[in-house]
Amino acid sequence: MFDNPHFDNHETVTFVCDAASGLQAIVVVHNTHCGPSLGGTRVWTYDSPAHALDDALRLSRGMTYKAAMADLPLGGGKSVVLMPPGGRKSAAMFEALGRAIERLSGSYIAAEDVGSTPDDMLAIRRHTRHVAGLAPEDGGVGAPSPTTADGCLIAVQATAAAIGRDLAGLHVAIQGLGAVGYDLASQLAAAGARLTVADLDAAAVARAVRELGAEAVGPDEILGVEADVLSPNALGGVLNERTIPALKVAAIAGGANNQLERPQDGEALRRRNILYAPDYVVNAGGVIKMCEEVYGWSEAKVRERVEGIADRLGEIFAQSAQTELPTNIVADRMAERRFKAPITPVMEDVE
Ligand code: NAD
Repeated sequence: MFDNPHFDNHETVTFVCDAASGLQAIVVVHNTHCGPSLGGTRVWTYDSPAHALDDALRLSRGMTYKAAMADLPLGGGKSVVLMPPGGRKSAAMFEALGRAIERLSGSYIAAEDVGSTPDDMLAIRRHTRHVAGLAPEDGGVGAPSPTTADGCLIAVQATAAAIGRDLAGLHVAIQGLGAVGYDLASQLAAAGARLTVADLDAAAVARAVRELGAEAVGPDEILGVEADVLSPNALGGVLNERTIPALKVAAIAGGANNQLERPQDGEALRRRNILYAPDYVVNAGGVIKMCEEVYGWSEAKVRERVEGIADRLGEIFAQSAQTELPTNIVADRMAERRFKAPITPVMEDVE
């Protein structure tokens, strides 16, 4: 465990097994310095339990950076449910996961993720209140993607401003027209941007062409489109040593998680003079929205924090220019300053 390359001083790793429901899960708390760890429950058929552990270690760490950078009273965590090939998830599994989360005394808050739904969160809720992402009729705030898309729009605008452009007439190449990408594309079109889009889903592409006046290109062409801004909103790892030399954009700002295949790809972008808005700064809208459910924040407070994405990017771009460090490294250091700050004892009266 401690030699795992993804292990980064994670606070706790809990292996959960419930024979009655067949649940096998791993709940990982990376860091709770700024508050309880929050992160989605991923339901996936992994090649092996070791891969599931790697995923949970990596994703929980990412959540710590995202929450710290957005200055939220939250830390980073993640849970993964290991599904056997062809296996079906059940309410009993999520109830068992809820009991395991309850035993963690509030250090981990579950939320929706790939493979899980608001109904699964409701099953967890039967055994613990440490869960977010419920449907509005069950007291939750609903899907986070509209707020994520709002944050992405603010990020594209801030990134465009940093290269001396505004949204009107800005040419944006959008990879991925799912929940986040399509919403972002609609808002960009409404602001007068020109769009070139790609998705594996031909219907989503046809809709963007019809409704937003977008130009369509194939999924394997989008990363080579000559445009002002590239906005990755599909997969991780799209910026790497194979794709970066072929990019024909001045900047990158999109909602996809883990866009850089390796940290050093940030330096490769800087050398090519391509301004990269770090992904976890851009796509923090969804986790900010979770604070409405977890802490009862008002919609106005959520909006204010989402608008703060522009200031955070401005600070990162300025520090990157000043220090000649790539933006991803500048962002990581800013986040680390928040969650690695000295810990104040809570028991002040104990000598
Ligand atoms: P989604 O599944 O709704 O959409 C993803 C889209 O990408 C789909 O339409 C899919 O067909 C398309 N796609 C997949 N591979 C592609 C390829 N090679 N080329 C072009 N298109 C491709 O997912 P989403 O919720 O919109 O999330 C998009 C990204 O943003 C993901 O990386 C996700 O992790 C990240 N993200 C989402 C949220 C959120 O609130 N939903 C928050 C933070 C980060």
